[in-house]
Parts: sequence; structure tokens; C-alpha cells
Amino acid sequence: MPRVFRFAPSPNGLLHLGHALSALINRDAAAAAGGTVLLRLEDIDRERCREAYAAAIVDDLGWLGVVWPEPPRRQSDHFPLYRAALDRLAARGLVYPCFCTRGAVLAASAAKAAAEGAPRPVDPDGAPVYPGTCRHLPAAERARRLAEGWPAALRLDVARALAEDPAPLRWRECGAGGGEDQPSRDVSADPAAWGDALLARRETPTSYHLSVVVDDAAQGVTDVVRGLDLFHATSLHRLLQRLLGLPAPRYHHHRLVLDAGGDKLSKSRGAPSLRDLRAEGLSPADVRRRVGLPV
Ligand code: GLU
Repeated sequence: MPRVFRFAPSPNGLLHLGHALSALINRDAAAAAGGTVLLRLEDIDRERCREAYAAAIVDDLGWLGVVWPEPPRRQSDHFPLYRAALDRLAARGLVYPCFCTRGAVLAASAAKAAAEGAPRPVDPDGAPVYPGTCRHLPAAERARRLAEGWPAALRLDVARALAEDPAPLRWRECGAGGGEDQPSRDVSADPAAWGDALLARRETPTSYHLSVVVDDAAQGVTDVVRGLDLFHATSLHRLLQRLLGLPAPRYHHHRLVLDAGGDKLSKSRGAPSLRDLRAEGLSPADVRRRVGLPV
């Protein structure tokens, strides 16, 4: 079976060395496996994504030598597909509307923790776990709010979702490139660590987690190679794949490029863009050296 990798940046800024490492690891792994890398522009956030960034990403990747055999997939072209996936989950009672603002979630989770005399539970990204306020809404109240047009997000009822199929949920974590000759291990997924995750936002009719699993399946992705910062997200992705009957790709979560303070590179902390580095005269080989890849 041909191996299909993907690189999936969000066009909400310029690429930096962290993106370059991820794109190049995908490129090298696909080349070693005789496979391909697809480009996917994760542009569901219509407020923050810009056409100019999408064009710059395509240009910078071409300069780096990352090529893709078909036009990039844009998530903003596929909102109906994500909607259909949500509808399938809703028909099984696995999602519910959530009317809470961000502030209300913070306040409710602090109040719950205080009442229980326990520390506030946080998800693997350090955000407070949703305390379940809207999961407990009486049906009539929920219907009233929806009829009145209250803005609503959609959350996964993770306990119900796990109860649908009690079989253990795992993923296969492979070495870089996922070659058969490389060590791999099974990782136990723990989707409940995320609480009732958001599958659609008030202002965006989908979420990163939902779109990524729908698209990986739609694009026939066999190998998901991405940064270690998304390791725990894979738990939720495996649950969504099982609920939606989608195939499980192999996974490889690679090291991150850190800044001088030991933090993951980010635009907000002033990481130089590939654009800047190109303007300074760096070559694609220099970029490989900078991110610790063989030239
Ligand atoms: N769009 C995500 C990001 O830029 C990556 C998603 C993924 O590789 O699953 O961080």
C-alpha cells in the first residue's frame, strides 16, 4: 500500500524552524518509504487565517524542497464534511450543545474544585477540564435556549462515547519514518483526560480535533508525523476515528525545536520566520543543519 504522509500547517502566520523540521521529517520519511507528502492548510479559523500566509507557506515549502503531488487541501472548503461527521455523532447522542463562555467555564471549574476541595483538573494542554455544566442541562432548557438562538458550541460526551465501545483504545507510535525496521510501540489512548472536548466552536462550525481526523481519512493518510506537542491529542483523535469508523494511521511524534529559554518556537515569542532566514541568506541546507537534520 502506498504510504501517504501529510504536513498540515495553519496559515495564521509565517512558517518558522519548528515547521521546517516537521515538514522536512515528513519529506525525508516519505522519500525513504517511496511515499508522498500531502499539504493541508488548516484554515478553519477564518478570523486568523490569511491568504497571504497560505501563499507564503506554499512558497517557503517549495524553497525547502518539500513537494506534494496534488493541490493543497484547504479545510475551509470542507465544512459540510465536518458537519456530516458531527451529525452522525449527534444522532447517537454523543454530542451536546454547550452555551458556556470561556469565562463561565473557568468560573464553573474553579467553583467545582473548591466545592470538592480538590485541585482543578486540567487537560494535557493545561486548560481546565470542562466541568460538564451543559451536559446536565434539562432537555427542556436546552431546547428553549436553542429555539431562542443562543450561540452554542458542541462538545463530545466522552463518557458516553467510551461506553459505546469498552475495548481498549491504542495507537501505534513508530520511529521517525515508521519503517518496518524501526522500533514501534502501542500507546494506550486516554481520551477522557481531555474531558468533554469541543468538536465545534460557537464561531467555527468544527474544531481542530474533528477536522484533522476527518481529513486524515479523506486524504488516505497512512502516517501522521507531527510534533510531540500533539502527542496527547492523539488519544482524542483515536476515539473520534473509532466513533466515526475511520482507519487508524501510524503515528510518529517528533522532537520540537526549542528557543533559548527552552520553550517551543512560536511566532508570539518572536521566533524568526523562514522568510526572515531566507532574507538573511540561509540556504535550504543551512535550515536542515539549524534543525539538526543530516544534509
Ligand atoms: N495544524 C496543526 C498545527 O499547525 C497541526 C495539525 C497536525 O499535524 O495534526 O499545529
